[in-house]
Amino acid sequence: MKTVKFGGSSLASAEQIRKVCDIVIADRTRRLVVVSAPGKREDGDEKVTDLLISVAEARLARRDGIDELARVVARFAQIAEELGMSADTLDYIRQDLQARLAADTADEGLFTDTLKAAGEANCARLVADYLRRQGHEAHAIDPREAGMILSDEPGNARVLQQAYGKLRQLRERTGISIFPGFFGYKESGRLVTFPRGGSDITGAILAAAVDAELYENFTDVDSVYVANPRLIENPCAVAEITYREMRELSYAGFSVFHDEALEPVFHAGIPVAVKNTNNPMAPGTRIVPHREIGNVPVVGIAGTAGFCSIYVSRYLMNREIGFGRRLLQLFEDEAIPFEHTPSGIDNLSVIVREEVFDHATEERVLRRIRTELAADEVSVERGLALIMVVGEGMRHTVGLAARATAAFARANVNLEMINQGSSEVSMMFGVKDHDKDATVQSLYSEFFD
Ligand code: ASP
Repeated sequence: MKTVKFGGSSLASAEQIRKVCDIVIADRTRRLVVVSAPGKREDGDEKVTDLLISVAEARLARRDGIDELARVVARFAQIAEELGMSADTLDYIRQDLQARLAADTADEGLFTDTLKAAGEANCARLVADYLRRQGHEAHAIDPREAGMILSDEPGNARVLQQAYGKLRQLRERTGISIFPGFFGYKESGRLVTFPRGGSDITGAILAAAVDAELYENFTDVDSVYVANPRLIENPCAVAEITYREMRELSYAGFSVFHDEALEPVFHAGIPVAVKNTNNPMAPGTRIVPHREIGNVPVVGIAGTAGFCSIYVSRYLMNREIGFGRRLLQLFEDEAIPFEHTPSGIDNLSVIVREEVFDHATEERVLRRIRTELAADEVSVERGLALIMVVGEGMRHTVGLAARATAAFARANVNLEMINQGSSEVSMMFGVKDHDKDATVQSLYSEFFD
């Protein structure tokens, strides 16, 4: 049995939904299908999830949200009409959306999640209805009944371990099960969503739960590329990549696959295929536990902006037991997740995302470091980008760091930080935000041209 997930662009219009259904019925083992909400039809269009968020925002701002809701209804109406669905289909979608708009707003996070999930919930029903009309046995699954139990973190939920046992029963269902991605339920029964892009996570959880032979993730590109095609013209395609490599690249900005989505399939050892709904015969990219390294030590290059570095120095820091723990404790107290901690003999830098480190937080944290840890020097550098050169082959290949740093020199980019993770799957470099693209381009020429 395969678990198949379709992203928003694959469901953006009636024409796309027809392609999805053709792909599903072309292979009888595609029995568990996860759908996103209809996404953008073209550049400049809006995703249904974004429209739903504006409905929630309107209501929370004490407006009625009717106009915003009408835009969501219009998107579904156009799809239903072009698919030739009966008026009933649109009626239940309209009623469902109105019920969500009228839900209790006391908890703003939960209210917003209830609306956000409407794109996936109604898309699953629409796709199942359409397949039935084509003469296939298909059912839209209710994640609450199926046992998709999540943590109590609206907009940022995680699956609870106990969910897997019940979800496994999806194996026994007959016909094609259409499962809405992106959301589940807390143990108390309230709806909560994963982070944005979370249908990938739903697909991976289900693939692991039913022990799928393959998790196919359909999107709108033929494969994963070694670097961002917006920066590099016609970059090389990746035929095979390991979970660890993909995880590192997703972290550093590869947007093909949600970076949290690999964890369930990684632990279950289920291979993943990234494929294109618009070109399903293209081989795509396989994400696997191990790959033949051959002469491909580097598999991808990625860069992502928006970091800052908090530099702390104290003379004889290396002799002071507990300094690192106390420094990180301070970040924990302030609920700031840290990303990396490159260190020297008497200094330690803590790299965090700028979005969690506004100026008020900075002032507080710096004051605490100075007073509670008696640091000699504390400074903050904003506007940093992290560049990752990723490949399992790195461990066994001499001279890669030299080649990488030569590429930095050629691009005339100053290196702010180097961090080779102990996993040896990647090398990470810190540069100024404005140097990010030139660096990726220069590294691409070095390793792939
Ligand atoms: N529809 C959700 C979003 O736009 C989830 C997803 O598409 O994966 O974030």
